[in-house]
Amino acid sequence: MSIPKTSRAAVLTAYNQPHEIREIAIPELIPNAILVRVETTTVCGTDVHQWRGDYASLTHPPIIQGHEIIGRVVALGSGREQDTVGNRLAEGDRISWTYAFCNNCYFCRVAREPTLCTRRRMYGWLCCDDFPHLMGGYSEYAYVLPECDVVRVPDSIPSSLAAASACSLRTAVHGFERIGGIATQDTVVVQGAGPVGLWSTAMAAEAGAGQVITIGAPSSRLELATQWGASRTIDIESVPSPADRQALVMDLTRGRGADVVIEAAGVPAALPEAIELVRRGGRVLVMGLAANTTPVSLPAGVIATKHLRVTGVISGYFPHYYRALQFLEANCSKYPFDKLISSTYSLERATDAIRSMAAMRELKPVIDPQL
Ligand SMILES: [Zn+2]
Ligand SMILES: [Zn+2]
Repeated sequence: MSIPKTSRAAVLTAYNQPHEIREIAIPELIPNAILVRVETTTVCGTDVHQWRGDYASLTHPPIIQGHEIIGRVVALGSGREQDTVGNRLAEGDRISWTYAFCNNCYFCRVAREPTLCTRRRMYGWLCCDDFPHLMGGYSEYAYVLPECDVVRVPDSIPSSLAAASACSLRTAVHGFERIGGIATQDTVVVQGAGPVGLWSTAMAAEAGAGQVITIGAPSSRLELATQWGASRTIDIESVPSPADRQALVMDLTRGRGADVVIEAAGVPAALPEAIELVRRGGRVLVMGLAANTTPVSLPAGVIATKHLRVTGVISGYFPHYYRALQFLEANCSKYPFDKLISSTYSLERATDAIRSMAAMRELKPVIDPQL
């Protein structure tokens, strides 16, 4: 395939405004970079916040949004012959790739926490005036930087699901790793029934939890949670009181509370509730609140007196992308994961996709830049 000169992209130029369709110059491939034709980008809740300007201090339009991307290799820069686990790469291969971590800072090399890299370059966040311009998924083509780890997507996984796994599922995989996994027959409470909560539900079920209790709304999402492995759901619309929800969880756990509580709700009140729902000596994983700066209050001694382990997680790096795809490959015939995916939009309708997600009309819209 010959390398085209430009790529059409839906560009965020001003917050809360329709995206602008632009032709962006495709830069020359530097060694170890990859040019991909974007096959699918899924829309993340983060994209909605970004479009509204909630991260205005972190981003500078014009931006090509979209960080959940699956692409097909158009051209490989010199030196890039394999993916990160040693599979040969060729033109036409379907790939997923990580953010570009610098591999040359304290967090990359000493703390071994690349997601905290101070010089990381994240897809969907960078000004498209700067090289290499094509750093987002709302675009016909994207540029995979030399620092990005790359993995070939297994044939059995549809691109839309693989794209969705590149954010919410890889973060859940990272979170489960950070809390040390789920013990056999643990009771796991998942707060939230958006993509992160749903993936956490399925992962907890597959990890051998005795019961998985998913708390959230609306009821259609809780139905999906049941199909994805929840043994019990609690609808926050019909049980609006945290005290009533706690009573239900206590009933289901012989008065002890959950062994593990996974916060995937993104609502500040979920954190004090998680501390109430977890048993003494239990574990709390805070995943959905990453972008939230709202103060919440907790009894100062509760983490010590309940002997809790409270762990945070953000994003992920290569092992989590890789394991997320493996999890999908192993389980996509067992659970109806495809029900996560809602409507498909062209680049011209990118703003409609964002608005539809903002209005909670759909769970995971898809942008197909080739439409
Ligand atoms: Zn995301
Ligand atoms: Zn670094």
